[in-house]
Amino acid sequence: MSSPSIRRRSRSTTAARGWAVYQDARDAHPEWIAVDERGEPRRHWANPELWVTCGLGPYNFEQMTAIVREIAGLYDVQGIFANRWAGSGPCYCESCRNGFKAASGLALPGPRAGDPARRPYLLWRRQRLLELWDVWDAAIRDRRPGARFIPNGPPGLESARRAEFLAVDQQARRGLTPPWAFGRSAKQYRAVMGRKPVAGLFSIGVEEPYRWKDSVQAGPEVRIWALDGIANGFRPWFTKFSAVLYDRRWLKTVEDLYAWHHRHERYLRNEAPLARVGLVYSEQTRDFYGKDEAEAKVDDHLKGMYQALVESRVPFEMVHDALLDPEHVDQFKLLVLANVAALSEGQCRRLADYVDRGGSVLATFETSLYDETGAARADLGLRALFQVSYEGRVDRRMQNSYLALNHETRHPILAGIEDAPRVINTVQRVRVRPLAPFPSPVTLIPSYPDLPMEHVFPRVPPTDERQVYLRERGPSRVVYFPGDLDRTFWEVLAADHGKLLANAVDWATNEERPVAVTGPGFLDVTAWRQKESLTVHLVNLTNPMTMKGPFREFVPVGPFTVRIRLPESLRARRVQLLVAGTAPPAEEAAGALTVTVPSVTDHEVVAVDVS
Ligand SMILES: [Zn+2]
Repeated sequence: MSSPSIRRRSRSTTAARGWAVYQDARDAHPEWIAVDERGEPRRHWANPELWVTCGLGPYNFEQMTAIVREIAGLYDVQGIFANRWAGSGPCYCESCRNGFKAASGLALPGPRAGDPARRPYLLWRRQRLLELWDVWDAAIRDRRPGARFIPNGPPGLESARRAEFLAVDQQARRGLTPPWAFGRSAKQYRAVMGRKPVAGLFSIGVEEPYRWKDSVQAGPEVRIWALDGIANGFRPWFTKFSAVLYDRRWLKTVEDLYAWHHRHERYLRNEAPLARVGLVYSEQTRDFYGKDEAEAKVDDHLKGMYQALVESRVPFEMVHDALLDPEHVDQFKLLVLANVAALSEGQCRRLADYVDRGGSVLATFETSLYDETGAARADLGLRALFQVSYEGRVDRRMQNSYLALNHETRHPILAGIEDAPRVINTVQRVRVRPLAPFPSPVTLIPSYPDLPMEHVFPRVPPTDERQVYLRERGPSRVVYFPGDLDRTFWEVLAADHGKLLANAVDWATNEERPVAVTGPGFLDVTAWRQKESLTVHLVNLTNPMTMKGPFREFVPVGPFTVRIRLPESLRARRVQLLVAGTAPPAEEAAGALTVTVPSVTDHEVVAVDVS
């Protein structure tokens, strides 16, 4: 290998330097180097000996292509996996400037979120990376027909559909990451990959901005992260930076995980989820509506809804908004749209068709108020489905406002909060007016002064303005919350909001849950069908360190009653608890199996052999 980029000395040079080069390589090939907005070549942020390369130009398309071809020719590899293959942020090199100009007629966008070139740039970048994926894949297969290129982090999740196998690199939690975040990634990738294998890449180390990449963290944190990924369909793949073992505490943790996984592999094939609820996620909403505020405007809605679904223990999957066709959504009874603001006409039509076929929809806030490019609509794209019309105004901050709960309606959405005449409102709301008659279980108590104390009283009588619109159409149900109930739930975590969301999901689903779990604690519940078995995973997230890791120890919870609806024509032959290693008491009646799980330390899997 004569490449100046990889002839250096240290043992890690070849493996990790695909996206950065030394000075000699820069001297020989200045066109390989990424350029910042001021036109300056980019030095590596963590290692000043190195220069960052452009992900979309000749370095990747020519030099790295030659390297992967050489590797595939010299070594008996099954594939080449690359992280950081897609470049490191925006690049303003000549190749990028010319390439984008040729494709779009535009100059590269600046840092401003509203730059009109931004959307074309994101789409061009994605297209360029798909081309690169194809070029590397072809180069590898040219030398080794059975091998493939495996990207880490594909350019757009929908493009993951083209992969035969993917590894999702989300090594550990940091900051306020919830413990279900790894499982959520598994759901997102499976939404596009289907049954193709997806490995969840977890680390044994501390994952914080200070990059302690040679560290070891507490066993319970490593375990809970990996177990929630496994419960949601990941195959485990652990990573340890550097090959020197300073701290050996992690070895037993990883050994135990893999030994258990291997022992019970036939119950972990996860051929099909039993979930009947699909939570829709939308990259176009994040990119073109959320833009630089995607965390607050998009992700926080999704996280709030995700948290509510986990708390309610209803098994659910995720659905990519580009895949709303019958093949991908008809397995579900309910689709949940947590502020999926940017939807095309076609996507709105597919959602309406889904409801026509008997499906239900639950949506919040600005869902469908923007088109797929992020341009505002005059009215909701789903106006006919919701039977409400946009009044042209969104309240962005409602202070000291409440929701009146009108129990005389006896609506199931109020179950479990019958003792409350009112609860706190959301923070934001879309002003809408109804186009049809609706029940009124939840109505608005408008904002009133929160100081001084003696002025804290409502200024107007309770209004009849509904804060949830509930429709029934045969077996289908449509729920629209004009408020940001999901996002407010994520910010405030009010139990009342969690109940409203869970009740709305159950009412809209309008059928018995496939799995119902009763007992104390915070569990992530997933349910699967294998060729000859059903499995229900209970991952115990109950911990003082749940919302701010790391876990130090597990807090056992239980007992639980697990009721599993048996798919028609299936009979239970044998029930086991794959972690406790016992055969628990079980009762079969009326098409359902009821199992008692005495206690869950970190996780349990109820495995039911069926015939
Ligand atoms: Zn470039």
